[in-house]
Amino acid sequence: MTTPDPTTTDPAHANTMIGLAMPAWERWSERVVVALGQNPGLFTGPGTNTYLIGTGRARILLDPGQGVAGYLDVLEHAMEQSGCESIQEIVLTHGHVDHLGGVGQMLERFGPLRVSKWPWPDFDAPCPAPLTPIDDGAVIRTQGATLRALHTPGHAPDHLCFLLEEEHALFSGDNVLGVGTTVIPDEGGDLLVYLASLERLLAAAPHRIYPAHGPVIEDGVAKLREYLAHRAARERQILAALGEGAARIAVLVQRIYTDVPAVLHAAAAHSVAAHLRKLEREGIVRRVDAGPAREVVWSLAQEAT
Ligand SMILES: [Zn+2]
Repeated sequence: MTTPDPTTTDPAHANTMIGLAMPAWERWSERVVVALGQNPGLFTGPGTNTYLIGTGRARILLDPGQGVAGYLDVLEHAMEQSGCESIQEIVLTHGHVDHLGGVGQMLERFGPLRVSKWPWPDFDAPCPAPLTPIDDGAVIRTQGATLRALHTPGHAPDHLCFLLEEEHALFSGDNVLGVGTTVIPDEGGDLLVYLASLERLLAAAPHRIYPAHGPVIEDGVAKLREYLAHRAARERQILAALGEGAARIAVLVQRIYTDVPAVLHAAAAHSVAAHLRKLEREGIVRRVDAGPAREVVWSLAQEAT
């Protein structure tokens, strides 16, 4: 996929990551350096943020990106410029390919390293290294930084966020993004669980959020509240759209996502489907017919005859 045009000023894109440009690497605090994974795209925005964490010569690498040629040069340049000589270990927020796919490239370059994550056998299979499981509440330390793991599923069942205790900041993975909202995928996504994870993150009251895609978020609590309000608003829109009559997901997306460019409607369909699965479990909507996921006609439950 090609790099989006960074000069676009189309207001329709203001709430998406399309056209968002970020530098190849940047220092975001005395213990946080970000290097872009060089994998821009529709679902990754400017690419995956890969983080060098700590203040010592050896640092934690959080999410090594997708394994794209060109990333290694960016990472090594960022290491050189920030006084980091080696990778202490690799830590993963979750098993999606734009986070886990770069592990092999790192092991080839830096030799054997510990690689840790919450296990998800289906998605962990392509990882060329044995994985060390991380439990909820586990602490990973390096010089100048302490990471505490928070199991926060919903975007993916294995998803971990990490509190950076020294800054009371949060590495949010894909649960919270620098711009736009997270996709709740058909495979492994669960909106009800995701909302509970957002509530848990809100209770932690992080100052900054360092997301897996897009720029740093200065007010973590405000962003988490915005995310929760956004999902509630989408849900109201879906119920209002269904109030006009039973419909397939594609029709609901067209009715609701007027503020999102059409190129993102396939992603939006995942989110609408996630809302409908949640509302179905809550007894608020029902399937008028059984069929392949995207062909199902949905209606409000009280219209049942
Ligand atoms: Zn993901």
